[in-house]
Amino acid sequence: MIRSELTEEQWKFKGNEELNKSSISVRGTLSLLSKHLNADDPRPVVPFGLADPSVYSSFRTSPSFVQPLVDAVNSGSFNSYPSSHGILPARTALAKYISKNLAYQLSPEQVFLTIGCSQAIEAIISVLSRPAANILLPRPSFPLYKSRADFQRLEVRHFDLIPEKGWEVDLEAIQALADHNTVAIVVINPNNPCGSVYTYHHLKQIAETARKLGVFVISDEVYAHMAFGEKPFVPMGEFGSIAPVLTLGSLSKRWSVPGWRLGWIVITDPHRTLEKHGIVESIRNYLNITPSPPTFIQAALPQILAQPSDEFFSDLLGLLRENANILYEKINEIPCFTCPNRPEGSMLAMVKLNLEQLEGVSDDLDFCNKVAKEESVLIIPGSAVGMKNWLRLSFGIERCSIEDGAARLKAFYERHARPNNPAASPLVE
Ligand SMILES: *Cc1c(COP(=O)(O)O)cnc(C)c1O
Repeated sequence: MIRSELTEEQWKFKGNEELNKSSISVRGTLSLLSKHLNADDPRPVVPFGLADPSVYSSFRTSPSFVQPLVDAVNSGSFNSYPSSHGILPARTALAKYISKNLAYQLSPEQVFLTIGCSQAIEAIISVLSRPAANILLPRPSFPLYKSRADFQRLEVRHFDLIPEKGWEVDLEAIQALADHNTVAIVVINPNNPCGSVYTYHHLKQIAETARKLGVFVISDEVYAHMAFGEKPFVPMGEFGSIAPVLTLGSLSKRWSVPGWRLGWIVITDPHRTLEKHGIVESIRNYLNITPSPPTFIQAALPQILAQPSDEFFSDLLGLLRENANILYEKINEIPCFTCPNRPEGSMLAMVKLNLEQLEGVSDDLDFCNKVAKEESVLIIPGSAVGMKNWLRLSFGIERCSIEDGAARLKAFYERHARPNNPAASPLVE
């Protein structure tokens, strides 16, 4: 009776507009692109879009990481709630693991376990979201930083990564962007989406810039040790005495188990400046009001981390190196693309779209919609990661998919190539 009298306008609830923007995540972008796929194309989809190689057999995780998890479940000892910052044996093991590459020792109190690196990002953005504060983000970037910041109403300012300089950070831009409300700089190394790895020297310059500005560094090292080029991976925590560093990481990429959802925040700050300024306490308190990763996964961590030389890691780097080289070479053979730097780390590359070589393609999004439709190839448009008319491609997929995908992109180019502009062709005598 009462219900029948109520009109639609009288229901008072509605969704959150901020969350209903499709651009809020890579997954949102991919699901929009997927609508353009042609169901009648018998060929398999080439998945350059999502960086989750764990679904492919050549990237399957090592049994030596799975066994500790099975043992933890079978023991029956880890069915209870974990403590909200992570169980002590797991935090102790992680402190030891991260300290191996640092000049100082971390204690378990400087380690917090999170539900993947994503929750680490969520926690830090939440902690920093105070009125008027702003953070500096790289462009292009991993989109979750901006999405979380927008959602929390934390102001974001972008500095460029420079393709001509191997995607190094534009340090002068950072200094020009920062003001007295700037609190932190985000650095992603090895880099998603550029596939670059920063040198010791460049990381030190970033830390010195942060110090000059009185801000700290959020170092996303979810691809730590996944460097397969000339440059070794250097942890930002190495420069923690220049400027405080919060290091973020997870098991997701290097151990190829993103579904296990185990990540971390590590305070790499030997002078304890973050502690003195209340940041550590805020992180602790934030994690008290959010859920923690499952106890049995935490329980397996010490044994998983105790296998640093497992041949799984060297095999994974070998696979990624070869995949990166194939992608780099094949893509650069196609006139409508330029990949300026051979990827040296992570599993992603940025490729410039040379629109002047194509006819009837208006921008990166139009290109991605059309290759989805005509070639069943899924690619993230650069605009989704902050760089219009570029493309983000994952090479964390099967080798045959990369080759197949490159051949389809070449066929697409040949069908859509702009006829030669006579003025631009070489003069014939
Ligand atoms: C994948 C990724 C994350 C998220 O990691 P999860 O552990 O899967 O939550 C964070 N940052 C970057 C740069 C990533 O590529």
